[in-house]
Amino acid sequence: MPDIPFWNKCNNKCVMCTNTPGFARQPGEAYRLKSQIGKLERYLKGLGPVYLKNSGSAEFVSLTGGEPTLHPEFFQLLAYFRRRLPGTPITLLSNGRRFSDEKFTRKFAAAARPPFTVAVALHGPAARVHDAVAGVPGSFTETVKGLGNLAALAPGVRLEIRLVLHKKSIKHFPGTLKFLLRNFPDTSRCLVAAIHYEIEGMSLENHAAVGLRLGASAKALNDALPLIRRFENFRLYHFPLCLVGKELRPLCWITIPEEDRVYPPGKCGGCALRDKCLGLMAEYSKMFGDEELRPVKR
Ligand code: SF4
Repeated sequence: MPDIPFWNKCNNKCVMCTNTPGFARQPGEAYRLKSQIGKLERYLKGLGPVYLKNSGSAEFVSLTGGEPTLHPEFFQLLAYFRRRLPGTPITLLSNGRRFSDEKFTRKFAAAARPPFTVAVALHGPAARVHDAVAGVPGSFTETVKGLGNLAALAPGVRLEIRLVLHKKSIKHFPGTLKFLLRNFPDTSRCLVAAIHYEIEGMSLENHAAVGLRLGASAKALNDALPLIRRFENFRLYHFPLCLVGKELRPLCWITIPEEDRVYPPGKCGGCALRDKCLGLMAEYSKMFGDEELRPVKR
């Protein structure tokens, strides 16, 4: 199943958002309940291309935005999707701020029947860092409170905390891990994923502010290995295996569809890790090339 844009407005202005400003300017009508139900039904009946991203993947659904929790008919839509996709894992991508409201979180916990994951992005270990990336003063406080509410009040919902690595967040990565270990010490309660940012939408427009090579990102991961080991569930998204240390390779997941990845023949052609590796994100390869890759001998 595909990435489904639930709602196109957001209350954050993240510097590395993969959406363009034009997306949020579209009339919200195209995302209202009736329209979303129509799209899902067309998709389920196989009536032509309905969703743009990951439309070939049938195992799970990602509800994206904008910020999905701001949808004016959020709970009705959530209930409809759950009813029409029984047993399908659903992941809701959120900035977490709406979950700072306990009442909202309790209502959500009742509606989001498993298998259900909420993935919340945390941009740093303090308001100064997080709010500078999210573009909204006060967002850190709400996001952290939202994470706490989800952990405490939605036990049936799997919680994923996403740390997106780019030029503005990378030097705070160890501090962010320490913050999580301090504030969410039960590391079995949630999955933490470190993600190299995607070059798309605002992150492309803001390249000078956020642009970061995979080599620098992978070095931060390798240096933070003792901290990463302290988490029970830790994953790495968007990393070529040859850039991370051997101990980190089992944590790497391929989460990008095949059409958006490349394996430069001069590097990956004879590499022993080719079959298990994400290779490079196509947009990354266009921006930075493949010179950092270090194929592993068979
Ligand atoms: S050389 Fe290519 S296939 Fe081998 S680990 Fe690096 S990116 Fe993956």
